[in-house]
Amino acid sequence: MRMETVAPCKEIIDVIKESGGEALSLCYQCGLCDTVCPWNRVRSFSMRKLIRQAAFGLTEIEVEDMWLCTTCGICPQQCPRDVKQIEFGVSLRRIATEYGVYPASAKPVSAIRASLAGEGNPLNGERQKRAEWAEGHSVKAFTEAMDFLYFPGCYLCYDPRLMKVARATADILNHAGTDFGILGSKENCCGESIRKTGDEELFKRLARENIKTFIENGVKKILVSSPHCFHTFKNEYPEFRVNFELVHISQHLLQLIGEGRLDLTKEYRKKVTYHDPCYLGRHNGIYDEPREALKKIPGLELVEMVDSREDSLCCGGGGGRIWMETPKGERFSDLRVEQAVAAGAEVLVTSCPYCITNFEDSRLALNYSEVIEVKDITEILQEVI
Ligand code: SF4
Ligand code: SF4
Repeated sequence: MRMETVAPCKEIIDVIKESGGEALSLCYQCGLCDTVCPWNRVRSFSMRKLIRQAAFGLTEIEVEDMWLCTTCGICPQQCPRDVKQIEFGVSLRRIATEYGVYPASAKPVSAIRASLAGEGNPLNGERQKRAEWAEGHSVKAFTEAMDFLYFPGCYLCYDPRLMKVARATADILNHAGTDFGILGSKENCCGESIRKTGDEELFKRLARENIKTFIENGVKKILVSSPHCFHTFKNEYPEFRVNFELVHISQHLLQLIGEGRLDLTKEYRKKVTYHDPCYLGRHNGIYDEPREALKKIPGLELVEMVDSREDSLCCGGGGGRIWMETPKGERFSDLRVEQAVAAGAEVLVTSCPYCITNFEDSRLALNYSEVIEVKDITEILQEVI
């Protein structure tokens, strides 16, 4: 369906602008965005072209291309005109969502929406089981007097691989004497990724419910494992006129080590490389703390991959892509795991549930089970205390 069948060109441009894509008219078609976009390492994709079509009111809302952007943040970093490609891309998805038009690869998003609306998470887990990961790990229910609300996020609460990360985190926090509690079944998904698929209404509902729960329970400081929760609580929830203090686990770990509250008694004699998650690095500028924490571990050798820090190669999981189909041969995570191996690393470490999910899949697909391990930073620390 071409949007011009619904309304004249000028109106289409207005609809896109009203949906958050207003900066599109600044684009002067230099093409720098396409030069840096990770899609062009695996197939052709042109953000520049999508913007040009929109500028002429020729947007087609059923095309696959408008669902490709992983919101990695690398092209906005390069754009000389501040076109805000992510907001523009999301504006197109908002229109498609409004019309209920999805290409085949984006179809799984419908089931995700149902799970989020019904159970507050995208993994079809029962709300009542949200805190099951914590059983046997001395995790208390949050009370107002505590220093931190620990918000593990959906994947750490329900995904079997990532529940290990939630448990490692709780064990480390208990070891260090961090005063924390969880809200368990009272939590909802933060809503970051569903918002990027264009479902503004569901995002607002999840956010409002979380904010109400946080305020009712006296939450002020939130410790998170997922960079996606970090981003949305810190940068998007203030749209609702609330401000919570946010701490990412990598920041807290470095602080605990610095204060001598984590005795690193064992050695970790391995070559390790750190992958910067887009939403921790480019979107929030946290590059040093995870590296500094890793460098404090006795025996650990930290090596860098070719694309690191501001130039980090996206794992492919942002922008709701974690829920969509990406054909073999087009997965950025395969390239990233290859980069880690090429750097000589025995362990690819990161600090984001989507990255871990994608890297574990790639490790299996590439037959690298014996070649490289994939770990969260907490899992390495847990081994040395
Ligand atoms: S980098 Fe910016 S100005 Fe250049 S084509 Fe892309 S969006 Fe347009
Ligand atoms: S944000 Fe990333 S994935 Fe999206 S168009 Fe820009 S470079 Fe490509």
